[in-house]
Amino acid sequence: MLIGGDHEQGACASRVVILGIGWDANSSFCHGAAEAPDQIRAALHSPSTNLFSETGLDLGAHPELEDRGNLAVPEDENAIPMIEETIAGILEEGHRPLLLGGDHAITYPVLRAVGGCHTGLTVIHFDAHPDLYDDLDGNPFSHACPLARAMESGRVARLIQVGIRSTTRHQREQARRFGVETYEMRHHPWQFSLAFDGPLYLSIDLDVLDPAFAPGVSHIEPGGLSTRDLIAMLHNIKGPLVGADIVELNPRRDAAGRTGMVAAKILKEVAALMLAAGSPKAPGTLGS
Ligand code: MN
Ligand code: MN
Repeated sequence: MLIGGDHEQGACASRVVILGIGWDANSSFCHGAAEAPDQIRAALHSPSTNLFSETGLDLGAHPELEDRGNLAVPEDENAIPMIEETIAGILEEGHRPLLLGGDHAITYPVLRAVGGCHTGLTVIHFDAHPDLYDDLDGNPFSHACPLARAMESGRVARLIQVGIRSTTRHQREQARRFGVETYEMRHHPWQFSLAFDGPLYLSIDLDVLDPAFAPGVSHIEPGGLSTRDLIAMLHNIKGPLVGADIVELNPRRDAAGRTGMVAAKILKEVAALMLAAGSPKAPGTLGS
C-alpha cells in the first residue's frame, strides 16, 4: 500500500485509491461519522491483526493500492460539487475510488462522478435503510436521501438494495418509482446472483450489520446481517468493480472500538475484491 500517494509513479496502472471523506453535516440524528476515516485506518493498521485479506492478498505490499488520506470538505454548499469533482479526478486518472465516510450523504456526489464516468452503472447498496426519502426534515441532501438523488440524476442504471429492515410507505413508493430491486431482511436468506457484466459500485452502510456485530453506528437497527453474512456476499461478487464506499461508522458510539475493527475488516475484503478483479476497461466503455 502506498501511503500519501505518489501520483506519478505507475500512473498508467489502475489503482484502488482509498480516500477518507469525513463529512457528516447531513446526519439527521447524531454526528460523529466525520471522525470515522482515521478510526478505520487505525484499526486497519492495528498490530493486533495483519493486512492480509481472507482471500490471500497482502494489502500492505500491494503496489496498486494507494491511500490518499482525507479530503478536506468545506462546511458550505460547495461540499457536494467539491466531492464530485475530486472523485471525477480520481476516475480521470484511470483509478478506482474506495471511500471511507462520513455519513451516507457522501454517496450522492460520489455516484454522480462514478455514474458520469461509467455508463450503465449498477449499485449494490447494503443498508438497514433504503435512503430514498425525497427529503428528510426539509433537507434533500440528508444522509436519508442519497439514493433518491442518485436515481434522479440518471447516472445509476440499476439499484439493488440489500438488508433493508426499516422503511416507510413513502420510501416503498420511491423504490417502486425508481425500479429498485429490494432484498429485505424479513426475507433473508436470499437467493440471487452476484455476478455482473457491467460496471459495479458497492455502497456499504455499516448499519446493514446487526448491532450485535456493529454497535458503533448512528442508527442502531436490530435484526441485521452478521459480519460473516456480509463478507460471504462480498466474496461471491463477480464483476468489474469501479468503486465502493464504507459509511456510517460513528466512533462516538463505538467505545470499545469494535465497529472500527469491523469496518477495517470490510475495507480489507472490499479492497482485495477490487484488486483481484483487475483493472476495468477505460472509463466510459464499460457496459457499452
Ligand atoms: Mn445509509
Ligand atoms: Mn442505514
